[in-house]
Amino acid sequence: MNKRVLSCSYLGAQSFLIEVEIDISTGLPIFSIIGLGDTAISESKDRIKTALKNSNFPLIPKKIIVNLSPAGLKKEGAHFDLPISIGIMVAMGFIKDKFNILDNYLFIGELSLSGKIKSVKGAINTVILAKELGYKGVVLPADNYYEANLIKNIDIISVSSLKDASDFITNNIKKKLKLKPICIDNQIDIDFSDVKGQTMAKRGLEIAAAGKHNLIMIGSPGSGKTMLCKRFQTILPPLTDNEIIKATKIHSIAGKLSKTNPIITSPPFRSPHHTSSPVSIIGGGKKITPGEVSLASTGVLFLDEIAEFPRAVLESLRQPIEDKKVSITRALYKVEFDSDFILIAASNPCPCGYYFEGDRCNCTQTEVNKYMKKFSGPIMDRIDLHIEIRQLSETELTTLNKCKSSKEIRSNVIKARNIQYSRLGIGRCNSDMNQSEISKYCVLSKEDRLYFKKVIKILNISARSYDKILTVARTIADLDNSHEIHKKHLMEALSFRKK
Ligand SMILES: [Zn+2]
Repeated sequence: MNKRVLSCSYLGAQSFLIEVEIDISTGLPIFSIIGLGDTAISESKDRIKTALKNSNFPLIPKKIIVNLSPAGLKKEGAHFDLPISIGIMVAMGFIKDKFNILDNYLFIGELSLSGKIKSVKGAINTVILAKELGYKGVVLPADNYYEANLIKNIDIISVSSLKDASDFITNNIKKKLKLKPICIDNQIDIDFSDVKGQTMAKRGLEIAAAGKHNLIMIGSPGSGKTMLCKRFQTILPPLTDNEIIKATKIHSIAGKLSKTNPIITSPPFRSPHHTSSPVSIIGGGKKITPGEVSLASTGVLFLDEIAEFPRAVLESLRQPIEDKKVSITRALYKVEFDSDFILIAASNPCPCGYYFEGDRCNCTQTEVNKYMKKFSGPIMDRIDLHIEIRQLSETELTTLNKCKSSKEIRSNVIKARNIQYSRLGIGRCNSDMNQSEISKYCVLSKEDRLYFKKVIKILNISARSYDKILTVARTIADLDNSHEIHKKHLMEALSFRKK
């Protein structure tokens, strides 16, 4: 008796349809799984046997051959447990596929020995694939129901046990789970008003959030740069529907979703330590998993003390920043993940940290240059906003007025984002503009153009920086709700450029 159950396999962010073929014949009772599976798949034989027995479907001693097709594609993970068990149950006659479910639904799920179905990585990818290929739906673990439900107009059947799955196949019983509402707002207990003064730095972060510009903050220890950068997440707008799917997808592949965090609704804020391994930052490993640059997609990658990161890591950040995608190459295949984040970096200006504080710095100029050079080469020209901040004096600290809250800044950011979305399309910001969009939307008056040309000549600014200044000026004009880029917008953009 031969049966076929449909499932899915992943390679990076890509998914592929897999046919799980089950052949049962008389002969020596053996159970073998073929078709380039990893160890998790070969171990699934024992899980399946025990789970079937404990769910009152004891295996009949026969020759069972399972083939995962196409055989040439390497397959990983334990999520084939469910499709294999379903195939065996139908082939052995324990359940009948009266409703033609096996031809119309994809199956994924890992079994526990008791027959319960456990959540799997990448469930949302299976749903996306099933929808693209025109299948009716997906049968998947109840714990993956939330993420699967982000994809509309496809039938999601959640199952908690082999019994649930057999109920669905034999009687077409669909257990519907209730979705609890998830709060979309950032629930973070920090606020911009916690940091006194530093108006220029705060303004820089506001511009960065509005136009998705990369930013670096260079300042002495105690100037509040880390505090400010951490508060950046409190002024970002909520994710768009498409971004929620994108962020959830990458977290699902990485196995980073949980019962308390079943989907990603706020912009991720990732802050890897400078001692993190290159693989954990860029992605890769034996079983290729997304790194911090991909988990930060749709949100923020915060590199505190950027000069402390190994040069090799900083160099390998070029491609993800530039292409908004990271590719990991293996001998036989290449895997790609998104890496579409806003880079926020912070650094001391010199090894001792007090270069801006005059006499307090005891570094030589050579030491200072060497320190700055660590990140200036690979990263600096990919950063749109450069901010230098100094420690506030005691008098400044005591005389400062009340400052803007995160909520106030965020509402400005959202307004500016909406202007950009209506100009460039939902989810696209000024920093995403291509050359022709820059020429179209960053028009200067004749007088301002001449002024700008003069300034860039004096400052010796590169062509890449030229465009970056224009896009920043566009964002500043959007924050000002101005259709045109005026001289004041341009001058403010220039003030965030150190070279
Ligand atoms: Zn120093």
